[in-house]
Amino acid sequence: MAHDMTVVTGAGGFIGGHLVAALLNEGHPVRAVDLKPFDTWYQLFPDAENLQLDLRTAENCLTATRGAAQIFNLAADMGGMGFIENHKAECMLSVLVNTQMLLASRQVATSRFFFSSSACVYAAGKQVNPENPGLKEEDAYPAMPEDGYGWEKLFSERMCRHFTEDFGLPTRVGRYHNVYGPHGTYDGGREKAPAAICRKVAEAKLSGDNEIEIWGDGEQARSFTYIDDCITGTLKLMESDVTEPLNIGSSQLVTINKLVDTVEQIAGTELKRRYELNAALGVRGRNSDNTLVLEHLGWEPSIPLEVGLERTYAWIYDQIVCSRGKKVRF
Ligand code: NAD
Repeated sequence: MAHDMTVVTGAGGFIGGHLVAALLNEGHPVRAVDLKPFDTWYQLFPDAENLQLDLRTAENCLTATRGAAQIFNLAADMGGMGFIENHKAECMLSVLVNTQMLLASRQVATSRFFFSSSACVYAAGKQVNPENPGLKEEDAYPAMPEDGYGWEKLFSERMCRHFTEDFGLPTRVGRYHNVYGPHGTYDGGREKAPAAICRKVAEAKLSGDNEIEIWGDGEQARSFTYIDDCITGTLKLMESDVTEPLNIGSSQLVTINKLVDTVEQIAGTELKRRYELNAALGVRGRNSDNTLVLEHLGWEPSIPLEVGLERTYAWIYDQIVCSRGKKVRF
Protein backbone atom coordinates (compact mmCIF):
# COMPACT_ATOMS: atom_id res chain seq x y z
CA MET A 1 0.00 0.00 0.00
CA ALA A 2 1.28 3.51 -0.86
CA HIS A 3 2.20 5.54 2.20
CA ASP A 4 1.02 9.02 1.31
CA MET A 5 -1.63 9.81 3.93
CA THR A 6 -1.20 12.32 6.77
CA VAL A 7 -3.22 11.22 9.79
CA VAL A 8 -4.43 13.60 12.50
CA THR A 9 -6.04 12.12 15.61
CA GLY A 10 -8.13 14.33 17.89
CA ALA A 11 -9.09 16.10 14.64
CA GLY A 12 -12.53 17.01 15.95
CA GLY A 13 -10.91 18.94 18.78
CA PHE A 14 -9.38 22.42 18.99
CA ILE A 15 -5.74 21.99 17.91
CA GLY A 16 -6.49 18.98 15.66
CA GLY A 17 -9.05 20.98 13.66
CA HIS A 18 -6.57 23.80 13.02
CA LEU A 19 -3.85 21.28 12.12
CA VAL A 20 -6.08 19.56 9.54
CA ALA A 21 -6.81 22.99 7.99
CA ALA A 22 -3.09 23.81 7.74
CA LEU A 23 -2.17 20.41 6.27
CA LEU A 24 -4.96 20.55 3.65
CA ASN A 25 -3.79 24.05 2.82
CA GLU A 26 -0.29 22.68 2.19
CA GLY A 27 -1.78 20.11 -0.21
CA HIS A 28 -1.47 16.96 1.94
CA PRO A 29 -4.06 14.19 1.68
CA VAL A 30 -5.43 14.11 5.25
CA ARG A 31 -7.27 11.50 7.28
CA ALA A 32 -8.95 13.17 10.25
CA VAL A 33 -9.93 10.89 13.15
CA ASP A 34 -11.86 11.53 16.36
CA LEU A 35 -14.09 9.74 18.83
CA LYS A 36 -16.80 12.40 18.74
CA PRO A 37 -19.80 12.36 16.38
CA PHE A 38 -19.12 14.53 13.30
CA ASP A 39 -21.73 17.14 14.23
CA THR A 40 -19.73 17.99 17.37
CA TRP A 41 -16.32 18.44 15.67
CA TYR A 42 -15.10 22.02 16.02
CA GLN A 43 -14.04 22.01 12.36
CA LEU A 44 -14.97 19.39 9.73
CA PHE A 45 -13.42 19.54 6.26
CA PRO A 46 -15.07 17.74 3.34
CA ASP A 47 -11.66 17.57 1.60
CA ALA A 48 -10.31 15.28 4.33
CA GLU A 49 -11.16 11.62 4.87
CA ASN A 50 -13.07 11.90 8.15
CA LEU A 51 -13.43 8.91 10.47
CA GLN A 52 -15.22 8.54 13.78
CA LEU A 53 -13.21 5.98 15.75
CA ASP A 54 -12.41 5.25 19.37
CA LEU A 55 -8.62 4.99 19.32
CA ARG A 56 -8.35 3.05 22.56
CA THR A 57 -8.51 -0.22 20.57
CA ALA A 58 -5.82 -1.86 18.45
CA GLU A 59 -8.23 -2.55 15.58
CA ASN A 60 -9.37 1.08 15.28
CA CYS A 61 -5.78 2.35 15.42
CA LEU A 62 -4.87 0.08 12.52
CA THR A 63 -7.83 1.44 10.54
CA ALA A 64 -6.74 4.99 11.36
CA THR A 65 -3.09 4.51 10.41
CA ARG A 66 -3.24 2.42 7.23
CA GLY A 67 -1.15 3.98 4.45
CA ALA A 68 0.09 6.73 6.79
CA ALA A 69 3.23 8.60 5.77
CA GLN A 70 3.04 10.72 8.91
CA ILE A 71 0.87 10.69 12.01
CA PHE A 72 0.00 13.55 14.34
CA ASN A 73 -1.41 11.96 17.49
CA LEU A 74 -3.39 14.63 19.35
CA ALA A 75 -6.32 12.56 20.70
CA ALA A 76 -6.62 12.80 24.48
CA ASP A 77 -9.26 13.09 27.17
CA MET A 78 -8.34 16.51 28.52
CA GLY A 79 -9.37 19.98 29.58
CA GLY A 80 -8.35 22.95 31.71
CA MET A 81 -7.41 22.81 35.41
CA GLY A 82 -11.04 22.36 36.51
CA PHE A 83 -11.20 19.15 34.45
CA ILE A 84 -7.77 17.58 34.92
CA GLU A 85 -7.69 18.06 38.70
CA ASN A 86 -11.01 16.23 39.04
CA HIS A 87 -10.69 13.52 36.33
CA LYS A 88 -7.25 12.04 36.91
CA ALA A 89 -8.14 8.46 35.98
CA GLU A 90 -9.86 9.55 32.75
CA CYS A 91 -6.81 11.62 31.81
CA MET A 92 -4.51 8.66 32.49
CA LEU A 93 -6.64 6.39 30.28
CA SER A 94 -5.37 8.35 27.26
CA VAL A 95 -2.38 6.03 27.66
CA LEU A 96 -4.52 3.44 25.83
CA VAL A 97 -4.74 5.74 22.78
CA ASN A 98 -1.03 6.53 22.85
CA THR A 99 0.00 2.89 23.32
CA GLN A 100 -2.27 1.55 20.57
CA MET A 101 -1.36 4.40 18.21
CA LEU A 102 2.38 3.74 18.69
CA LEU A 103 1.92 -0.01 18.13
CA ALA A 104 -0.16 0.57 14.99
CA SER A 105 2.33 3.16 13.70
CA ARG A 106 5.10 0.65 14.11
CA GLN A 107 3.06 -2.02 12.33
CA VAL A 108 2.22 0.18 9.32
CA ALA A 109 5.83 1.46 9.29
CA THR A 110 4.95 5.13 9.17
CA SER A 111 7.89 7.42 8.56
CA ARG A 112 7.04 9.88 11.37
CA PHE A 113 4.92 10.02 14.54
CA PHE A 114 4.16 13.25 16.45
CA PHE A 115 2.97 13.20 20.06
CA SER A 116 1.29 16.23 21.66
CA SER A 117 2.71 16.43 25.15
CA SER A 118 2.20 19.24 27.62
CA ALA A 119 3.83 21.72 29.98
CA CYS A 120 2.02 19.66 32.67
CA VAL A 121 4.98 17.23 32.53
CA TYR A 122 7.17 19.74 34.37
CA ALA A 123 8.14 19.08 37.97
CA ALA A 124 5.84 20.88 40.44
CA GLY A 125 8.76 22.10 42.59
CA LYS A 126 10.03 24.21 39.68
CA GLN A 127 6.73 26.11 39.38
CA VAL A 128 6.19 27.59 42.83
CA ASN A 129 7.27 31.14 41.94
CA PRO A 130 4.86 33.37 39.93
CA GLU A 131 7.92 35.00 38.31
CA ASN A 132 8.92 31.73 36.66
CA PRO A 133 11.91 32.46 34.40
CA GLY A 134 10.90 29.67 32.04
CA LEU A 135 10.91 25.89 32.13
CA LYS A 136 13.73 24.22 30.25
CA GLU A 137 13.05 20.82 28.71
CA GLU A 138 15.40 19.20 31.28
CA ASP A 139 13.15 20.52 34.11
CA ALA A 140 10.79 17.57 33.57
CA TYR A 141 13.24 15.49 35.63
CA PRO A 142 13.49 14.40 38.43
CA ALA A 143 9.85 13.68 37.66
CA MET A 144 7.00 15.18 39.69
CA PRO A 145 4.51 16.24 37.01
CA GLU A 146 0.86 17.28 37.34
CA ASP A 147 -0.92 14.34 38.95
CA GLY A 148 -2.93 12.20 36.50
CA TYR A 149 -2.77 14.13 33.20
CA GLY A 150 0.92 15.11 33.51
CA TRP A 151 2.09 11.64 34.53
CA GLU A 152 0.33 10.13 31.51
CA LYS A 153 1.95 12.66 29.18
CA LEU A 154 5.41 12.03 30.64
CA PHE A 155 4.96 8.25 30.40
CA SER A 156 3.81 8.51 26.77
CA GLU A 157 6.75 10.80 25.94
CA ARG A 158 9.00 8.07 27.33
CA MET A 159 7.22 5.44 25.22
CA CYS A 160 7.90 7.54 22.10
CA ARG A 161 11.57 7.69 23.05
CA HIS A 162 11.84 3.93 23.50
CA PHE A 163 9.83 3.12 20.35
CA THR A 164 12.46 5.20 18.53
CA GLU A 165 15.44 3.64 20.30
CA ASP A 166 14.27 0.02 20.32
CA PHE A 167 12.00 -0.24 17.26
CA GLY A 168 13.37 2.52 14.99
CA LEU A 169 10.02 4.39 14.83
CA PRO A 170 10.85 8.08 14.19
CA THR A 171 9.00 10.16 16.81
CA ARG A 172 8.69 13.87 17.58
CA VAL A 173 7.36 15.28 20.89
CA GLY A 174 6.02 18.82 21.34
CA ARG A 175 5.27 20.14 24.83
CA TYR A 176 2.38 22.57 24.32
CA HIS A 177 1.98 25.45 26.77
CA ASN A 178 -1.63 26.71 27.24
CA VAL A 179 -2.86 26.98 23.67
CA TYR A 180 -5.82 29.29 22.95
CA GLY A 181 -7.73 30.66 19.96
CA PRO A 182 -10.98 30.41 18.01
CA HIS A 183 -12.73 27.05 17.37
CA GLY A 184 -11.88 25.67 20.81
CA THR A 185 -13.71 24.75 24.00
CA TYR A 186 -15.04 27.83 25.78
CA ASP A 187 -17.68 26.38 28.10
CA GLY A 188 -18.89 23.11 29.64
CA GLY A 189 -16.08 22.56 32.18
CA ARG A 190 -13.13 21.61 29.95
CA GLU A 191 -12.23 25.15 28.86
CA LYS A 192 -8.89 26.72 29.78
CA ALA A 193 -8.27 30.14 31.34
CA PRO A 194 -8.15 32.39 28.21
CA ALA A 195 -11.39 30.96 26.77
CA ALA A 196 -13.07 30.96 30.20
CA ILE A 197 -12.15 34.61 30.82
CA CYS A 198 -13.29 35.65 27.31
CA ARG A 199 -16.61 33.86 27.88
CA LYS A 200 -17.15 35.39 31.33
CA VAL A 201 -16.37 38.92 30.10
CA ALA A 202 -18.60 38.48 27.01
CA GLU A 203 -21.46 37.11 29.13
CA ALA A 204 -21.09 39.94 31.66
CA LYS A 205 -21.17 42.45 28.84
CA LEU A 206 -24.22 40.91 27.19
CA SER A 207 -26.18 40.52 30.43
CA GLY A 208 -25.19 43.87 31.93
CA ASP A 209 -23.94 42.07 35.05
CA ASN A 210 -20.73 43.86 36.02
CA GLU A 211 -19.09 41.13 38.11
CA ILE A 212 -16.99 38.11 37.13
CA GLU A 213 -15.55 35.19 39.06
CA ILE A 214 -11.78 34.61 38.95
CA TRP A 215 -10.24 31.33 40.10
CA GLY A 216 -7.65 31.94 42.85
CA ASP A 217 -6.24 35.37 43.72
CA GLY A 218 -5.46 36.10 40.06
CA GLU A 219 -1.72 36.39 40.77
CA GLN A 220 -0.88 32.90 39.42
CA ALA A 221 1.16 33.36 36.22
CA ARG A 222 1.20 31.57 32.86
CA SER A 223 2.23 32.06 29.27
CA PHE A 224 -0.43 31.54 26.59
CA THR A 225 0.29 30.32 23.07
CA TYR A 226 -1.88 31.45 20.17
CA ILE A 227 -3.10 28.59 17.99
CA ASP A 228 -1.31 29.78 14.81
CA ASP A 229 2.04 29.64 16.65
CA CYS A 230 1.17 26.18 17.98
CA ILE A 231 0.48 24.89 14.45
CA THR A 232 3.63 26.48 13.01
CA GLY A 233 5.75 24.96 15.79
CA THR A 234 4.13 21.54 15.36
CA LEU A 235 4.80 21.46 11.61
CA LYS A 236 8.38 22.72 12.02
CA LEU A 237 9.14 20.16 14.71
CA MET A 238 7.65 17.34 12.63
CA GLU A 239 9.81 18.30 9.64
CA SER A 240 12.97 18.59 11.78
CA ASP A 241 15.26 15.77 12.87
CA VAL A 242 14.83 16.59 16.59
CA THR A 243 13.88 13.46 18.53
CA GLU A 244 13.99 14.97 22.04
CA PRO A 245 10.89 16.75 23.47
CA LEU A 246 10.70 20.48 22.68
CA ASN A 247 8.64 23.29 24.23
CA ILE A 248 6.03 24.79 21.93
CA GLY A 249 5.02 27.73 24.07
CA SER A 250 4.98 31.49 24.32
CA SER A 251 7.43 33.10 26.77
CA GLN A 252 5.17 36.14 27.38
CA LEU A 253 4.46 35.57 31.09
CA VAL A 254 1.30 37.20 32.51
CA THR A 255 -0.77 36.86 35.67
CA ILE A 256 -4.43 35.87 35.37
CA ASN A 257 -5.30 39.41 36.55
CA LYS A 258 -3.32 40.80 33.60
CA LEU A 259 -5.12 38.37 31.28
CA VAL A 260 -8.45 39.72 32.58
CA ASP A 261 -7.24 43.35 32.15
CA THR A 262 -6.40 42.59 28.51
CA VAL A 263 -9.76 40.97 27.75
CA GLU A 264 -11.58 43.85 29.46
CA GLN A 265 -9.69 46.35 27.30
CA ILE A 266 -10.61 44.42 24.14
CA ALA A 267 -14.26 44.27 25.24
CA GLY A 268 -14.28 47.92 26.29
CA THR A 269 -15.50 47.16 29.80
CA GLU A 270 -14.30 47.04 33.40
CA LEU A 271 -15.77 44.46 35.76
CA LYS A 272 -15.78 43.84 39.49
CA ARG A 273 -13.72 40.71 40.29
CA ARG A 274 -14.89 38.06 42.73
CA TYR A 275 -11.97 35.80 43.68
CA GLU A 276 -12.88 32.13 44.21
CA LEU A 277 -9.98 31.01 46.40
CA ASN A 278 -11.07 27.35 46.63
CA ALA A 279 -11.09 26.73 42.86
CA ALA A 280 -8.68 24.39 41.03
CA LEU A 281 -5.51 26.38 40.45
CA GLY A 282 -2.59 24.27 39.31
CA VAL A 283 0.95 25.55 39.78
CA ARG A 284 1.78 29.14 40.85
CA GLY A 285 3.96 30.13 37.90
CA ARG A 286 4.63 28.45 34.52
CA ASN A 287 6.52 29.84 31.54
CA SER A 288 8.29 28.42 28.51
CA ASP A 289 12.08 28.66 28.12
CA ASN A 290 12.63 28.78 24.36
CA THR A 291 16.42 28.43 24.22
CA LEU A 292 16.30 24.87 22.89
CA VAL A 293 13.48 25.41 20.38
CA LEU A 294 15.31 28.47 19.02
CA GLU A 295 18.52 26.49 18.75
CA HIS A 296 16.88 23.55 16.95
CA LEU A 297 14.16 25.17 14.85
CA GLY A 298 15.40 28.78 14.62
CA TRP A 299 11.89 29.78 15.66
CA GLU A 300 9.74 30.55 18.71
CA PRO A 301 6.11 31.67 19.16
CA SER A 302 5.77 35.39 18.47
CA ILE A 303 2.07 36.29 18.31
CA PRO A 304 1.44 38.75 21.20
CA LEU A 305 -1.26 37.87 23.74
CA GLU A 306 -3.15 41.09 22.92
CA VAL A 307 -3.44 40.08 19.24
CA GLY A 308 -4.43 36.47 19.90
CA LEU A 309 -6.96 37.43 22.57
CA GLU A 310 -8.63 39.97 20.31
CA ARG A 311 -9.34 37.22 17.73
CA THR A 312 -10.37 34.73 20.42
CA TYR A 313 -12.68 37.15 22.22
CA ALA A 314 -14.37 38.12 18.93
CA TRP A 315 -15.02 34.46 18.09
CA ILE A 316 -16.33 33.54 21.57
CA TYR A 317 -18.52 36.66 21.72
CA ASP A 318 -20.06 35.70 18.35
CA GLN A 319 -20.64 32.09 19.50
CA ILE A 320 -22.48 33.28 22.61
CA VAL A 321 -24.54 35.80 20.66
CA CYS A 322 -25.43 33.18 18.01
CA SER A 323 -26.36 30.59 20.63
CA ARG A 324 -28.68 33.14 22.25
CA GLY A 325 -30.19 33.92 18.84
CA LYS A 326 -29.26 37.60 19.18
CA LYS A 327 -27.89 39.89 16.49
CA VAL A 328 -24.07 39.98 16.30
CA ARG A 329 -22.70 43.36 17.38
CA PHE A 330 -19.20 43.07 15.88
P1 NAD B 1 -9.45 18.85 22.56
O1 NAD B 1 -10.11 18.24 23.75
O2 NAD B 1 -10.11 19.99 21.90
O3 NAD B 1 -9.16 17.71 21.47
C1 NAD B 1 -8.83 16.38 21.80
C2 NAD B 1 -9.69 15.47 20.95
O4 NAD B 1 -9.32 14.10 21.20
C3 NAD B 1 -11.18 15.58 21.27
O5 NAD B 1 -11.91 16.02 20.12
C4 NAD B 1 -11.58 14.18 21.69
O6 NAD B 1 -12.87 13.78 21.24
C5 NAD B 1 -10.49 13.33 21.05
N1 NAD B 1 -10.38 12.04 21.72
C6 NAD B 1 -10.35 11.81 23.05
N2 NAD B 1 -10.31 10.48 23.28
C7 NAD B 1 -10.30 9.86 22.07
C8 NAD B 1 -10.30 8.52 21.66
N3 NAD B 1 -10.33 7.50 22.56
N4 NAD B 1 -10.30 8.24 20.34
C9 NAD B 1 -10.32 9.25 19.43
N5 NAD B 1 -10.34 10.56 19.75
C10 NAD B 1 -10.34 10.86 21.07
O7 NAD B 1 -7.98 19.24 23.03
P2 NAD B 1 -6.87 20.15 22.33
O8 NAD B 1 -6.76 21.38 23.11
O9 NAD B 1 -7.13 20.23 20.87
O10 NAD B 1 -5.58 19.27 22.61
C11 NAD B 1 -4.99 18.43 21.62
C12 NAD B 1 -3.79 17.71 22.23
O11 NAD B 1 -2.84 18.67 22.71
C13 NAD B 1 -4.13 16.82 23.43
O12 NAD B 1 -3.31 15.69 23.40
C14 NAD B 1 -3.77 17.68 24.61
O13 NAD B 1 -3.46 16.91 25.74
C15 NAD B 1 -2.56 18.42 24.08
N6 NAD B 1 -2.33 19.69 24.78
C16 NAD B 1 -3.19 20.75 24.62
C17 NAD B 1 -2.96 21.92 25.29
C18 NAD B 1 -3.89 23.11 25.14
O14 NAD B 1 -3.61 24.16 25.74
N7 NAD B 1 -4.96 23.03 24.39
C19 NAD B 1 -1.84 22.06 26.14
C20 NAD B 1 -0.99 20.98 26.29
C21 NAD B 1 -1.22 19.79 25.59
